[in-house]
Amino acid sequence: MQLIRFGAPGDEQPGVLLDDGRRIDVSAAFSEYDASFFGGDGLTRLRAWCDANADTAPTLPDAARLGPPLARPSKIVCIGLNYEDHARESGNDLPEEPVIFFKATSAIAGPNDDVFLPRGSTKTDWEVELGVVIGQQASYVSEEDAMDHVAGYLLHNDYSERAFQLERGGQWVKGKSCDTFAPLGPVLTPRDSIEDVHDLDMWLTVNGTFMQQGSTSNMVFGVPTLVSYLSQFMTLLPGDIISTGTPAGVGLGLDPPQYLKPGDVVELGIDGLGQAQQRIRPSS
Ligand code: ZN
Repeated sequence: MQLIRFGAPGDEQPGVLLDDGRRIDVSAAFSEYDASFFGGDGLTRLRAWCDANADTAPTLPDAARLGPPLARPSKIVCIGLNYEDHARESGNDLPEEPVIFFKATSAIAGPNDDVFLPRGSTKTDWEVELGVVIGQQASYVSEEDAMDHVAGYLLHNDYSERAFQLERGGQWVKGKSCDTFAPLGPVLTPRDSIEDVHDLDMWLTVNGTFMQQGSTSNMVFGVPTLVSYLSQFMTLLPGDIISTGTPAGVGLGLDPPQYLKPGDVVELGIDGLGQAQQRIRPSS
């Protein structure tokens, strides 16, 4: 069972991708995959409902647009330089403590939606990342207890305008938060459906050419460490997303650097979390 949301942007309904591949509408029983759903043990209720009702639930039309697989959370916290090869390609030392930055939640988009270059963009880049979705509220949790606070995982492309991020002063958030810069999904996979979150292959192509091929096994700080660490500085609410960093192979690290232009097609995937495709569009 994996969570999906479908329908027009801003009007998505909750659904489920069943293990047999059928996609069902669960909106008759669940209003939204939001903080009260995750914090109220919604995954357990959803699983029970599917066991009883999946056979008779309405299925989605093949052409249904997929939205992000959860409602807009209170925050997206991103981890910088969390893969050794990516830290090296971007000219940085490995951090002694996790590097954290925020990404505006208004950047969230569906997994296969178009990505619009922001006005004045010259250096829009890609980053395939494992996103961790918080289940139970987390404040001052230990590493030992951290995984009890995780609902599941999703695929995230942490689009980054490098000139905005690195050449315009201040914090990285400036180059990370443009509209459509956070495509999420296609699915939210519950934590217990992933055998080892630190052993997932991840990849990204641009126009069919492999740019990133990595594994979550190379993360510097793993998921329990990140959840515990962040919870020392802020309360993580149900539905919040931690994006755990990207492996080598971003455009910034190429010689010469390569950035996205209108018409480019970016595809990406992570084991167990599905795959997504985004077409790059000019500034609106
Ligand atoms: Zn990133």
